[in-house]
Amino acid sequence: MSMMRSIYLDNNATTALAPVVLDAMLPYLFSEHANPSSASEAGVRVKKALGDARIAVAHFMGATPAELIFTSGATESNQTAIMGALSLSKGKRHLITSQVEHPSVLLMCQHLERLGIEVTYLPVDEEGRLSLEDLHAALRSDTALVSLMWANNETGVVFPIAEATAIAHAAGALFHTDATQAIGKVSVNAVASGVDFLSCSAHKIHGPKGVGALFVRKGIALPPLFHGHQERGRRGGTENVPAIIGFGAAIRLVTDVESDACYLRGLRDHFEQGLLAFMPCARIHGQEAERLPNTSNIGFIAIDAEELLYRLEQKGITAAAGAACAAGRQEPSHVLTAMGISKTAVLSSLRFSFGRMNQLEDVEQLLRVLPSLLLDMMDMPPITAAPLISCAHSQ
Ligand code: PMP
Repeated sequence: MSMMRSIYLDNNATTALAPVVLDAMLPYLFSEHANPSSASEAGVRVKKALGDARIAVAHFMGATPAELIFTSGATESNQTAIMGALSLSKGKRHLITSQVEHPSVLLMCQHLERLGIEVTYLPVDEEGRLSLEDLHAALRSDTALVSLMWANNETGVVFPIAEATAIAHAAGALFHTDATQAIGKVSVNAVASGVDFLSCSAHKIHGPKGVGALFVRKGIALPPLFHGHQERGRRGGTENVPAIIGFGAAIRLVTDVESDACYLRGLRDHFEQGLLAFMPCARIHGQEAERLPNTSNIGFIAIDAEELLYRLEQKGITAAAGAACAAGRQEPSHVLTAMGISKTAVLSSLRFSFGRMNQLEDVEQLLRVLPSLLLDMMDMPPITAAPLISCAHSQ
């Protein structure tokens, strides 16, 4: 019986735990189980290991260990930054974000609106790009915080974070960036970018789920979301030791972002070129914008994305229709909708996100499988040699 090899192309949703990360975590699930706040010898050992993980993650983003708070993930980091910035900027009751942020930012902003905070949601253009002029125009004397993602999880489109930060600071506002998708895919230096707060998460870089970090620029006394003595009073709750150790191990695996990016871009471009060769009318969302090297969001004209996703899964290939969090709800992606893409076109779009564990063979297999699936879904007779799906066929 032949075993179907499974191909995972949903690395923006989450990544597989790297085996060495698991190895690093295992002792802290068993023998090294002491509480890092305990004064016992074992507690001191665990505290030291936490410190080493903090150094690794902080240095990776150009920060000092004291500027890093470990959290339960990017959702908590994002919400800590937003809530904290509001309470730091007393009297200021306005926030700026974009229409394409992750729900962990958008839903928090909507919640705050119900509490009387005013929020401006900046639009994006048809390629998913942000206008710095729009940001400039939206800033007010009572703007507490600007929160913009470094890179979009659905399209991979990268925002000009350093420039946006400078504009926000000139108007007296704090700046937060959700860099969850950027870490490990493009070079991210929290300090050099000038941001006040930066969120990230371990499970996007082959680390464990349920752990993330928030960079808080030196000199900012950000009030915590959870009060307690851990993390120097900035995040209460006994530290998730095995996960934090795993985060440290995962970040140490990212030794050369440039060469990883080159590898990922190679896979992604091979896919997009191969796809366009047999389906020239397929639309690559955000193609003209600066994009993460690993993300490909494709509009398959007149194809039901959920159905295609299911058929790919039957062939052992995992991709995503919209973000993982929105999938299954049959709601058109808010990101593609904000780019002015029609509802029908949004519901025909799939995201393929490549990871370091993917190989060229995975892309080849995808390119072998896709044409016949698409032709089948379009009720076309199978074409054996050099299949070409023309725009006329797919309308
Ligand atoms: N922000 C972005 C851009 C993300 O992609 C995600 C994960 N989908 C999050 C925030 C939330 O991260 P976490 O799962 O660690 O809470």
